[in-house]
Parts: sequence; C-alpha cells; structure tokens
Amino acid sequence: MASGGGGRQTPGSPRVLVVGGGIAGLGAAQRLCHYSAPPHLRVVEATARAGGRIRSERGFGGVVEVGAHWIHGPSQGNPVFQLAAAFGLLGEKELSEENQLVDTGGHLDLPSMCCTSSGTRVSPELVAEMASLFYGLIDQTREFLHVAKTPVPSVGEYLKKEIGQQVAHWTEDKETKKLKLAILNNFFNMECCISGTHSMDLVALAPFGEYTVLPGLDCTFSGGYQGLTNNIMASLPKDVMVFNKPVKTIHWNGSFQEAAFPGETFPVLVECDDGGRFPAHHVIITVPLGFLKEHQDTFFEPPLPAEKVEAIRKIGFGTNNKVFLEFEEPFWEPDCQFIRVVWEDTSPLQDTTSGLQDTWFKKLIGFLVLPFSKSVHVLCGFIAGLESEFMETLSDEEVLQSLTQVLRRVTGNPQLPAPKSVLRSCWHSTPYTRGSYSYVAVGSTGDDMDLLAQPLPADGTGPQLQVLFAGEATHRTFYSTTHGALLSGWREADRLMGLWDLKMQQSWPRL
Ligand SMILES: Cc1cc2nc3c(=O)[nH]c(=O)nc-3n(C[C@H](O)[C@H](O)[C@H](O)COP(=O)(O)OP(=O)(O)OC[C@H]3O[C@@H](n4cnc5c(N)ncnc54)[C@H](O)[C@@H]3O)c2cc1C
Repeated sequence: MASGGGGRQTPGSPRVLVVGGGIAGLGAAQRLCHYSAPPHLRVVEATARAGGRIRSERGFGGVVEVGAHWIHGPSQGNPVFQLAAAFGLLGEKELSEENQLVDTGGHLDLPSMCCTSSGTRVSPELVAEMASLFYGLIDQTREFLHVAKTPVPSVGEYLKKEIGQQVAHWTEDKETKKLKLAILNNFFNMECCISGTHSMDLVALAPFGEYTVLPGLDCTFSGGYQGLTNNIMASLPKDVMVFNKPVKTIHWNGSFQEAAFPGETFPVLVECDDGGRFPAHHVIITVPLGFLKEHQDTFFEPPLPAEKVEAIRKIGFGTNNKVFLEFEEPFWEPDCQFIRVVWEDTSPLQDTTSGLQDTWFKKLIGFLVLPFSKSVHVLCGFIAGLESEFMETLSDEEVLQSLTQVLRRVTGNPQLPAPKSVLRSCWHSTPYTRGSYSYVAVGSTGDDMDLLAQPLPADGTGPQLQVLFAGEATHRTFYSTTHGALLSGWREADRLMGLWDLKMQQSWPRL
C-alpha cells in the first residue's frame, strides 16, 4: 500500500479533495499519495463504484465492457498501457514489441463481413475501396491544422464536398454508385461513434488533426478494463475513497471555518447532496463535461469566469452506446470479427429527416464479435448520436425486437432466432456522466480544452490553485480516451506538487 493520503500526513498539511473517482481522479490521487509530504486527501465519488466511464460488468458468463473498450495506441508512450503492463493485466500478445509497433493511423481494420438492408453481401473489395477513399479523406483533414480559414467549418462538410466531387467521376452503373454511397454512409456513422457525436457536421475541421494517435494495435483487457482502476484504487490508503457522495456545490475563493477544524480557515468548501461538507485548500474537479454542461451554473459558487463557462458550452460532448446481444448459435463465420450493416437507401450526400421511432436503428454501424468462450456467442453493436439517445428511452424488449428485425433483414433469413438476451449502455441518461466523451465542436478549438484545464482563481484574487480541472475533456491531444484522462489527473497533481515545492523552497532559511 502506498504511503500518505489517508494517514501519514503531518498536521497542517494541505487538505485536497478530488471530485470524481474515474481514471483522472484516481490518477491524481495516486500521484499525490507519492508526494514526499503527502496531503490530507479524499476522493469523493457520486456513485457506489470507482472507474466512471471505465465500467466492466459480469455478463454472459464473462466480462462485458459497458464503457471504455480498447487501449488506443498501446505502446510505451501510453501511460494506460504502461500501468496495465505494470499491474500484470495484459497478455503476451498485447505486450509484444510487434503489437506496439503496428501503425493503424487510428483506423481499426478487422476481418469482417458486410451485409446490406436487402439481405445481400457486399464484396470485401468494394468495402476496402470505400474504406481507402474515406480514410484517405480523413487523413487529409490534417492539412487544415493551424490554418486560419478552412474551406468549410466541419469535418462532415469537408468529407461530403470531396466525395461529391469524386462521385462525378465514378463510372459504374447507378445501383453500384448507390451502394458505394451507402457504404460511405456507414463509415460516416462509424466516425460519429469514434468522435462521440451526432453528426460529423458538428466536428470542427481545423482542430480535428490535433487529436493524436499513438502507435500500437488497439488491445483489450481479458479480465476487464476496470481491473486497471481497481488496481489504482487498491494502491491508495484505505480511507481515501468516499463513495455515494454526490457533490452539489463547490464554494471557492472564500474564508471558511468549520467546527471540526478550530482556528483554521479554508479557501474552498465542498458541499454534498446529503449535506456533507469538506473544507479544503485545493479541489481537483474530474466530473465529465456532460455533467458540467448540465450543472455548472449551480456547481460553482461564485460562478465560473465567463470564458470558462463559454469553453464548457462550446466543447462538444455526445453519445456513443453499446448494445450486447447473446445468441444461442452464431450466424456469422468463425473468423469474422465485425459485421458491418449498410442501409441501401442512405447516402452521406442526402439528409434523411424521418422520425427517430422508425429509423433509429439505421444509425447502428454493425456488430463486433466478442471473444467469449466457444459456447457463448455475443455481438456488440455501436450506435452514436441522437438515435443512440433515443434508444435509451426504449425498453430492452423493444431494442431486442428492433435489432432482431434488422438482423433478419440483413442476413436475408426471416427465421433467424432472436437473441437470447440483451445488455446495453445508457451513457446519456447516466446522471453523473450525461453522454460518452468530448470532441472539438464547430465554433471551438483546442484552446477551449486548455482554457477548461486552467485552475482558479485565474486572476490572483485569492490563494493559488483552489480549483483545478482534470478529466478527458481537458486533454488537448488525447481527449475522449482513458490515457488522456489519466494524464490530465497526473498533470493537476503535478501542478499542486509544484506549488508545494515552491513554497517549501521559499520557506527554507537563506544560508
Ligand atoms: C461507450 C464508451 C466507450 C469508450 N471507449 C473507449 C476506448 O475504447 N478507449 C479509450 O481510451 N476510451 C474510451 N472511452 C472514453 C473513456 O472511457 C473516458 O475518456 C475516460 O474513462 C474518462 O475518465 P474521466 O476520469 O475523465 O471521467 P469519468 O470516468 O467519467 O469519471 C468521472 C467521475 O466523476 C463522478 N462524478 C460526476 N459528478 C459527480 C459529482 N457531482 N460528485 C461526485 N462525483 C461525481 C462520476 O460518477 C465518475 O465516476 C469510452 C467511453 C464510453 C462511454
């Protein structure tokens, strides 16, 4: 067990509160516990568990990832990979040099089959041709990084403009051209899942290339991603974590006195929903951007400075959900790892404005075949945007019925047995998350993420570093990932320790 945090601190050591027990909050706590003069530390978490959007549940006789799925870019530069390796959570293949050197450019290419809404199969060659066109254009978006004025505001508009020009030169028959556009539409929906957005038209073009892809073939945790956060938590002193304690308001830039600390004053007082109060010198906020968007006007007293409020409003935060379906028997081939679903009447160049009730399932990109045991057959569907949020309002039975119809249609088998069971995430209705992850929306830039990360007070009107900000949405180049979140927690812990080091140096007598 690590020293510090709960017990070893000396009287008069600073009191630090971390709000949120996801990987950013746990990472900050882990770092602070290793400081030479550990602070008095508590991590207050609204729910009954640590991990936040890292959430592994028991299901189908194995482990199901309701939240984060892969380590993106598992190589030496990735702190999640390094920690997972140090905790012994990765297998030989994931740790291999060969795996770490693979450069996918962020585009996962799995052995797949591609089914259409009329029950036919698309040739792998045609899908590969469209993948090459689509990802070629995605890679081209990097040209606009740091360009003052882009031809169009969003990634979606750029892709559509370029595709529109290319279509004019396609020489195939009308049906093949339609199919090619429908496949491209599937790639657009897939990119929405990756960016956690409703539409690529909402994602800003100029800063898009700032998101950084690390080398390494994306890998998973055979025992569950949550093993990582559980291990970090186990390394903290026992009394650091406080569960089931939703924070209501952060009172800052004050002079608070509490009966339990006679004679002491604190610049920050954290008030919880249940009336609990935590006086502190420093608070590290790691709550998701979705929660901040919804509650920022009551979450801070005094309110946040106007530019921080604007940054919270401008940065995008959307929904990507998973739907797990268990089957008695597989209907896919043994080597198939992804079943792509293409709706033949769709095209990225045409807006469809029908009601969500009848069309929500068309946004689902397809299904990942999960590596369960030989006798357990589970698919994981991905769906982003408003359709995903609509799906959250439906019952499990309704989702199962709709997806059974979809699968019967795309396999061309009206007798296909319905899945045995369904399990799904509902990240938009999860009260302490309100969505899945952040993206740089039209009207915002990476500067807004940096602005969100700036500590308060910003103007030197009170004691330094009262309120610090971490969490995936505060990492300019690794936002939306677990490694971005972890690094942001470490960054804020380092910021605090830097302040204490400075104070310590200043208090040393001059020789
Ligand atoms: C469906 C899905 C798939 C994903 N897939 C991947 C992937 O494959 N790879 C990857 O790298 N990333 C993935 N991510 C993103 C990744 O999970 C997140 O970026 C990361 O886990 C965020 O960590 P965090 O600590 O910033 O926030 P969180 O994990 O959300 O932690 C914040 C914590 O704050 C708590 N909280 C909120 N409000 C309060 C309050 N008022 N008081 C007290 N506590 C509060 C919450 O309960 C939560 O525990 C995925 C996310 C989702 C939703």
